[in-house]
Amino acid sequence: MARVFVITGPSGVGKGTLIRGLMARLPELELSVSATTRAPRAGERDGVDYHFLTREEFDRRVAQGEFVEHADYAGRSYGTLRSELEDRVRAGAPVVLEIEVQGARQVREALPEAVQVFIAPPSLEALRTRLTARGTDDSEEVERRLQVAEEELAAQPEFGHVVVNDRLEDALEQLTAIVSQELA
Ligand code: ADP
Ligand code: 5GP
Repeated sequence: MARVFVITGPSGVGKGTLIRGLMARLPELELSVSATTRAPRAGERDGVDYHFLTREEFDRRVAQGEFVEHADYAGRSYGTLRSELEDRVRAGAPVVLEIEVQGARQVREALPEAVQVFIAPPSLEALRTRLTARGTDDSEEVERRLQVAEEELAAQPEFGHVVVNDRLEDALEQLTAIVSQELA
């Protein structure tokens, strides 16, 4: 039975929003808290939104083999700690990972049974609008993320499931259907 769900896709596409909706509908899901070297945004809490690590701490943990996957994204490092994943998987809990595309590829190698869902935007313009409207990143950072997004969108055919997040309710319905089917 599939117990690990990887939700990937470009920044600003709505992964976090969809995962919040998914977890409200399927409360047995548990979210893996990633580690990152980026600074917390206003309102983000250490250990809840991310494990915020210094560069030295992140690199030390990489060297000690503590990550299932890790990747550089827009000049920062992000990764999934084994400790976040393994206890939950052992306990039989279904786990959701919200990660970018390079990390999703590494999980595909390490855990081929994981279900991978790529969330796609209706257009690059819509992605730009969402990243700008979210208001968490300055215009330089938005441009960096859009540049990465073009490469990430090219990876879409690698994924078993693709959900286009145009109307949020429709996308949430589709994502919930995919996950429910795997859990059944
Ligand atoms: P990600 O986690 O992929 O970076 P977010 O969930 O933070 O993306 O969403 C980015 C922004 O887009 C947020 O402001 C969110 O409210 C908005 N958003 C999400 N889904 C939609 C949608 N279907 N239509 C319009 N805006 C959306
Ligand atoms: P943000 O800075 O917007 O929180 O995240 C930037 C990107 O990093 C997003 O695409 C997000 O999905 C991705 N990300 C978050 N956590 C992880 C992780 O643990 N591993 C990888 N590979 N990417 C992550």
